[in-house]
Amino acid sequence: MGPAPAPALSTVHAVPAALRTKLARAKAPETADEPSWNDATEAAVEWIVSIKPSAEDGLGHWFCGRGGWDAEGGWDAVVFSLRLLAFKPNGMIADWRDRLFHLLTNCPYCIEKYQTAKAEFVGE
Ligand SMILES: [Zn+2]
Repeated sequence: MGPAPAPALSTVHAVPAALRTKLARAKAPETADEPSWNDATEAAVEWIVSIKPSAEDGLGHWFCGRGGWDAEGGWDAVVFSLRLLAFKPNGMIADWRDRLFHLLTNCPYCIEKYQTAKAEFVGE
């Protein structure tokens, strides 16, 4: 097996600093509360849906990282966004949910890591 192919430039991305700050605030016991969770969730889903899926298979591989998705860098944001499963799927949330379900019916590697993400989310 050779090295992994370089990700397509259009799919390279990094978690914005503002989102990282919001996630940290929402996760730290001394600052975590309803408003900070909502703030972080909104920023996370905005960032997730702003990233174009891979041109190869039309999927954003949030969990397994195929197609150039930075699954490691985006892990916290993606795990945090799983809160949205409990929300009414309107607007951006519907978009997010469609992508999640599409992903989970098309990539077995993402399904596998999704189990880990869910366990992590429940443990928070
Ligand atoms: Zn995948």
